Parts: sequence; structure tokens; C-alpha cells
Amino acid sequence: MGVLVYGSEISEEIRNGLKEQIEGLKGTGRRVPCLAVILVGNNPASLSYIKGKEKACAAVGMDSRMFHLEETASRDEVIKVIEDCNKDDGIDGILVQLPLPKGLNEKEILVHIDPAKDVDGLHPVNVGKLYLGEDGFRPCTPLGIMEILKRMNCDPDGKRAVVIGRSALVGAPVARLLQDQGATVTIAHSHTKDLAGLCREADILIAAIGRPRYIGAEYIKEGAFVVDVGINRDENGKLCGDVDTAAVLDHVTAVTPVPKGVGPMTICMLLVNTMKSYETRNV
Ligand code: NAP
Repeated sequence: MGVLVYGSEISEEIRNGLKEQIEGLKGTGRRVPCLAVILVGNNPASLSYIKGKEKACAAVGMDSRMFHLEETASRDEVIKVIEDCNKDDGIDGILVQLPLPKGLNEKEILVHIDPAKDVDGLHPVNVGKLYLGEDGFRPCTPLGIMEILKRMNCDPDGKRAVVIGRSALVGAPVARLLQDQGATVTIAHSHTKDLAGLCREADILIAAIGRPRYIGAEYIKEGAFVVDVGINRDENGKLCGDVDTAAVLDHVTAVTPVPKGVGPMTICMLLVNTMKSYETRNV
């Protein structure tokens, strides 16, 4: 029987460490790290995500500043807020909540974030640094996945890994991070033939598809480490991942559940990246 590895528990440990570190800063009279979150419009999911981010910052003693722009805000108005945050020495991390309203081009907007404050790791400079193996900000979900593997006692070095999904946000960067740690990586996607056969070769399987309980036991190599990134609703409206956890549990070494798996790690890594920016900038 495999082990369920809860990202919620790992993230609590990391957040406790950050909290202590920030209390230490306060004790010496230094300012605390600060995350700026820019929201354009009133997308209900985005509103709930940014509340979660604000709460997570407050819980560890970090400052957060919210910039809420109208749905009708122009490209120039959004860029002006980003540039003001870039110049503000009291802000360490800048996050533009995605998706942006229709009519605003995400790539055109994100490129204005100072790469030194790009705690979401989506600026082309940080994407380039990831692929060149240089130090920079890595996207939060892939970072969280790598931390989970570490806590599973899974060293990617020499292992076969299959990542299902090739998005710029999850699949592509996590594949690169796995490769950097010595894994031999295959990226699968919707055009991949015999996905189950391919997955059965994987010592490490990362599912970032967006299809409820798509991955059953027939996709699993005995003893594999499985990380389920998907966030879906099943036919009854219940939150679930891409992996049928109950069906695979007997065949894996470890698997993450949904909820309480990768999700909590993503916000946690945003805090870790903001602390990293604070320490690097040292202002
Ligand atoms: P995405 O941009 O929609 O990418 C999904 C990927 O899955 C695509 O590469 C797609 O292939 C592939 N795919 C879809 N159906 C497939 C199939 N039947 N067989 C093989 N591959 C298939 O999504 P994403 O942003 O990467 O997110 C993936 C999932 O993770 C979603 O459920 C999302 O909600 C979740 N997520 C969770 C977190 C978290 O914090 N836990 C963070 C981000 C995302 P093509 O490229 O060929 O279309």
C-alpha cells in the first residue's frame, strides 16, 4: 500500500519556518517582505485566489498590497501599476493574477514586471534562466512539485519521469526541473499515442492534464512516485485530481491527494519566492 503525501502538511512546515524567519526580522527592526498582487476585473475565482494569497501572507507575517483595477482598465493603466511596483523598494514580489480580462494580452503585460520581483517566474527572463540552468525565479507549482518529491524521498537522479501536460505554467517547467535533477524525462500531451504504456515506464509520474480521475492503475508502474496536479470537478461537482487515487494507491510508493496535495504547495512557494526576492534585493 502506497503512502498519501499531503502538500498541506509540507506547506505548513515551510510556512512555520518562514514565520519564524519573519519574526526574527521584526525583532531586529527590519521591514518585512511584501508581495504586491494586481487584479484586473472581478473574476470570482481570481477574487478568491487573491484572498487566499493575502491570507497566506498575513499568516506568516508578510505584508501584501492589493491593486484592484476595473475590468475596463487599459493595457497602459495596468502597465503603469506594474511599473510603480517595480520602482517601489518596499515591494519584493509582484504577481499579476491571471487570467486577465479579454482584450488584455497577458504576455504583453507580464513582460513589464521587473524580473527581480517576478515571484511567479513567468517573465521571459526567468523562463530563459530556467532553461539555461541559471538562478532565477521558478514558477510556483513546479517548485511545489519538486519539494513534494523531495519529501517523498524521491531523488529524480537516474529515474524515468513522465510529465503529462506541456503547459508553460506546469508541464514544461516541471519537466525541465526534473531533467536538471538527473531524471530522463518524457513530456506527454493530447497527441501522445499509448499514454498508458508510456506512463507504465515511469518511476515518477506527474499528471497535469485537467481531466477528472483520468489516470487509473493501468497507467502506473509498480512502486512509482505520483504527483497529481489536476484540479477538477467530477460529475457530482466534487473536487478531484487527474489521478484516481483510490485505484492507484496499492501500486505506488507515494501519491498526492486532491485536495490538500499540490494546491497548498503553490501558494507556499509564492511566499518562498517572495522571501527569496527580499533576501536577494536586500533593500
Ligand atoms: P493546460 O494548459 O490546459 O494543459 C493541459 C495539458 O494536458 C496540455 O498539454 C494537454 O495537451 C494535456 N492533455 C489534455 N488532455 C490530455 C489527454 N487526454 N492525454 C494526454 N494529455 C492531455 O492546463 P495547466 O495549466 O497545465 O493545468 C493542468 C491541470 O493542473 C489543471 O487541472 C489545472 O487546474 C491544474 N493546476 C493546478 C495547480 C495547483 O496549484 N494545484 C496549478 C496550476 C494548474 P495539449 O498540449 O496537446 O493540448
